[in-house]
Amino acid sequence: MDFKNIKRPVIIAGPCSAETEKQVMETAVKLAADGIKIFRAGIWKPRTRPGNFEGIGSKGLEWLKNVKEQTGMLTTTEVANTKHVYEALKAGIDILWIGARTSTNPFAVQEIADALKGMKIKIMIKNPVNADINLWIGATERFKKAGISDITVIHRGFSSYTQSIYRNDPMWQIPVEFRRRMKDIPMLCDPSHIAGRRDLLLRISQKAMDLNYEGLMIETHINPKTALSDAKQQITPEELKKLINSLIIRHRNIKDMENPEHLNTLEELRTKIDEYDEIIFNYLHKRMETAKDIGKLKKKNKITVYQPDRWNQILEHAVEKGKKLGLSTRFINTFLEAVHQESINRQTEIFKK
Ligand code: PEP
Ligand code: MN
Repeated sequence: MDFKNIKRPVIIAGPCSAETEKQVMETAVKLAADGIKIFRAGIWKPRTRPGNFEGIGSKGLEWLKNVKEQTGMLTTTEVANTKHVYEALKAGIDILWIGARTSTNPFAVQEIADALKGMKIKIMIKNPVNADINLWIGATERFKKAGISDITVIHRGFSSYTQSIYRNDPMWQIPVEFRRRMKDIPMLCDPSHIAGRRDLLLRISQKAMDLNYEGLMIETHINPKTALSDAKQQITPEELKKLINSLIIRHRNIKDMENPEHLNTLEELRTKIDEYDEIIFNYLHKRMETAKDIGKLKKKNKITVYQPDRWNQILEHAVEKGKKLGLSTRFINTFLEAVHQESINRQTEIFKK
């Protein structure tokens, strides 16, 4: 199944963990009846703290085998070491996924890649829990080097210390940059682990679709309230069906615009954007040249490059101005921090001379 050329969205659904044969089979039968083609279930569960349900272990693989036989769905599970790989392959699991705690660890990833060397198997790699795009790309490279070409990645969000509405911060700029650099690798979104709660799943899924992802992996349980892991984020097969039906799947290609006459309008608007970018860049150039002149003055007068009061004043003014113009504080901060850092770099260069 080629995720790149399949009708969007590819949906992978099933429980966080396989718990009982009944729970697995009942969930699977419902999903299959709704047309879901790929069934997920964790057999070995990486839990943040000990003492929680750590997965049913190998005996659950038999249940997945039954799911495949009885529903015709493909099956997928997480593998974190060579033992998992051998057992999953022996049980006929179709797709193996590398979890977010494993993709942080090049030793573990290499071990799994070596165990699969040269095999024809589909692999999915979740983003590492830490926000390191190169570690994620590196994991795909380890599998490619082992001769595995059918690789998909899954965006499941990143750990963060600060409290937010999300269980894992999506940091959308990272998957977007991943796609820019690794154009041929299909990407799925796992809104369940990003959200950590049911009510945010649709919003996140829609965003992923609008960012051109190929599909979604969504945790689905026949009775989420009783789930032994991730109970708050799982939904029933019925709820999944509703969610999928609520998604608006937009065309990825401008050429497929439903009103072709709008193509001209779009072109005009894009020309405007290009013009504004041109203006912004010219002014950024002027701003940097001026920062250099200030650097020369500071150097002559033995003043430090970084002037906190001035920086605060710039930022406060910009945030206030931004508010009036409908520009978010987060955007203004990110933008000005980058500009300020570049000015500091220019002035530091002058100090070195
Ligand atoms: C899971 O999919 O159940 C899981 C453990 O995911 P992650 O590796 O993203 O935490
Ligand atoms: Mn889970």
